[in-house]
Amino acid sequence: MISNEEALKRLRTGNKRFISDSSIFNNTLSHKSRGNSLTENQDPFAIILGCSDSRVPAEIVFDQSLGDLFSIRVAGNIVAPSQIGSVELAVERFGTRLVIIMGHSRCGAIQATIEELKRPSGTQSKNLRSIVDRIHPSLTSLDLDQAPEILLQQAVRANIHSSVRQLEHGSIILEQLAKKGELLILGAEYSLDTGIVDFFDNLT
Ligand SMILES: [Zn+2]
Repeated sequence: MISNEEALKRLRTGNKRFISDSSIFNNTLSHKSRGNSLTENQDPFAIILGCSDSRVPAEIVFDQSLGDLFSIRVAGNIVAPSQIGSVELAVERFGTRLVIIMGHSRCGAIQATIEELKRPSGTQSKNLRSIVDRIHPSLTSLDLDQAPEILLQQAVRANIHSSVRQLEHGSIILEQLAKKGELLILGAEYSLDTGIVDFFDNLT
């Protein structure tokens, strides 16, 4: 398994290909080209916990192929027990050492949470509420009266940071690996406007 720094570099390079229209994704996606070699094993170099939004598929925005990414998608990129368990699975079984929690601009799940905070309707199903309730605590310190676009942008970022913290501290296994430097958990934001993934780190 490659190091977390090398894995991060691979994601950055893939995103650069994506935004410069030089994706190699289409050439490597077919079952014939990669799928046959993956029937017995897999060796994903990164875990991406991202939103279910149809415009943010990890494999495409990072220009990766079959077997490259262990992709977990849920509206609002929330961290609930099943997401933590999915990350543990990939870390333990496949030795993956990089986790990216990727939110994105103008996220519908975040917008739904803001609307519920501003005007509680109580009409959401308990299933949708289970998502909104996960996002809600990270937004309580934000100024709800500011310009809607700025509020949504701040809320998206606050939710990403909160999800990173929840994943870091929601699992003893992950926490111990992170402490030893054997696992890197990073937040990132995808821009629907530019296609760029902005990683929340100080690495180059
Ligand atoms: Zn979203």
